[in-house]
Amino acid sequence: MKPLPSSVETPRTSLDVAAVRAQFPILHTQVHGRPLVYLDSAASTQQPLTVIEAVSTYHRAQHANIHRGVYELSQTATRLYEEARATVARFLNAAEPAECLFTRGATESINLVASTWGRANLKPGDEILLSTLEHHSNIVPWQMVAQATGARIRVMPINDAGEILMDEYRRLLSPRTRLVAVNQVSNALGTINPVREIIIDAHAVGALVLIDGAQWVAHGRTDVQALDADFYAFSGHKLYGPTGIGVLYGKRPLLDAMPPYQGGGDMIEQVTFELTTYAPLPGKFEAGTPNISGAVGLAAAIDWVESIGLERIGAHEQDLLRYATERMSAIPGLTIKGTAQRKSGVLSWVMVDPPIATLDLGTQLDLRGICIRTGHHCCQPLMDRFGVTSTARASMGVYNNRDDIDRLAEALAECVADAR
Ligand code: PLP
Repeated sequence: MKPLPSSVETPRTSLDVAAVRAQFPILHTQVHGRPLVYLDSAASTQQPLTVIEAVSTYHRAQHANIHRGVYELSQTATRLYEEARATVARFLNAAEPAECLFTRGATESINLVASTWGRANLKPGDEILLSTLEHHSNIVPWQMVAQATGARIRVMPINDAGEILMDEYRRLLSPRTRLVAVNQVSNALGTINPVREIIIDAHAVGALVLIDGAQWVAHGRTDVQALDADFYAFSGHKLYGPTGIGVLYGKRPLLDAMPPYQGGGDMIEQVTFELTTYAPLPGKFEAGTPNISGAVGLAAAIDWVESIGLERIGAHEQDLLRYATERMSAIPGLTIKGTAQRKSGVLSWVMVDPPIATLDLGTQLDLRGICIRTGHHCCQPLMDRFGVTSTARASMGVYNNRDDIDRLAEALAECVADAR
C-alpha cells in the first residue's frame, strides 16, 4: 500500500524531524528484525541523548545524598536537585520553586492531594467532581478519600466525540462541590479539555481545581498562573524524561495549610518524641531521600523540549495527527473512537469488520516492529461509556514522522486482509 496521494498538505512545520530522531538512540534499534516504529508516547516517551547523558553524568560524577552534607559533592547534588526544581517552576510558570514538589509521578501527585488536602477538608455531603475521561489515577484516589470522609464523587458526562458536556458540568457544580479534578488531555482519546473554562466555573462556586497535566505538558505550553490552577500534576516519563519522577504544583497558601503526606527525614524542622514540627515548603512534602537523578533528568528533558519549542512540537504533532486520521479512516472496518474538535496526537480505534481483537492487533503490529498500546488504557469507565472493553491506541511524539504512520497503516491493512 502506497502512501496516500493525500489531501493532507505537506507539513508547514519548521521542525527538522530527522535531526530530532538522530538524538534518540532507541529509534535506531530493531524489534523482531524490523526497524522500530514507536507510537506509544502517551504511555512513555523515549529519552533524547541529553537526558541520558545528564543522568549518566550525575551517576558518574555528581552523586551524593542531598541537603545534609557539608562536603562539596553533597552540595553539588543539592544544587542540581534544587536547580531542577527552579527549572520546573519556570516551565510551569509557577510563582516560586517551592510551589513545585517532586513526586514519583502524576499518580503520586494526585494521591498526595487526595490524602492530605482531601482528608483534612472533605466531610459528608461534600462533592468531588471528575470527568468520564479520567485515568484511574484521577479516580481511585478520590474514591478512597470519599470513602474515608463521606464525600461523594460526581461525574461530568461526555458526548460521543469524547468531549466534556460543559452545560452538564455547570449543572453539576454547586456550593457542595469542593474540588474538580480533570485531565487537560485524555490519554485514551486525545481530547484536549477546556481547562481554563472549567477552572473559572469551578472557582465561581468556591471549588478548587486539580489539573492532571500528564498528557499535556509535552505537547504545548503550560502556565499554571494563567490557568489559575490550584493543583497541577505531571510525570517526567511522558515529557522525554526518566521514570519515577513527577511534579505536583500547588498554590503556596494551599500547600502551606495542608498536612504533610509522609513522615520521615528531610520534612521536619524539629523532632522530639512528644512533638514534631514540619519543614517549610517544599521540604514538608518530600520525606526521605528523593529521586535525585530523576530530577536532574527531568530538568534536562525540560531544557530539551524548550530548546525545540513547545509550539513547534505541538504544530508538528497536529500535522501528523491530521495525516494519521486520514490514513486510518481509509482502512476498511476501522472505527476511530474519540473525534473531538481539539485533540492531541492520539488515535484510538477498534476493528469491527472483520472484527479483530485489539490484543491480537497489538501482537501482529509488534511482530512488524510497531509499538502501539491495546487495552483499557486505565480508563475503564470511559471504555464503558463507549461500550467497548478495549481499544488500540497509537500516540505520537516529537520524533514521529509520516513514515511511521505509513508503516502503521500498511500493517493494519495487512491485518485486515489476513482476517478476511
Ligand atoms: N493521568 C493520565 C492522563 C495518564 O495518561 C497517566 C498515565 O498514563 C497518569 C495520569 C499516571 O501517570 P503515572 O503512571 O506516570 O503516574
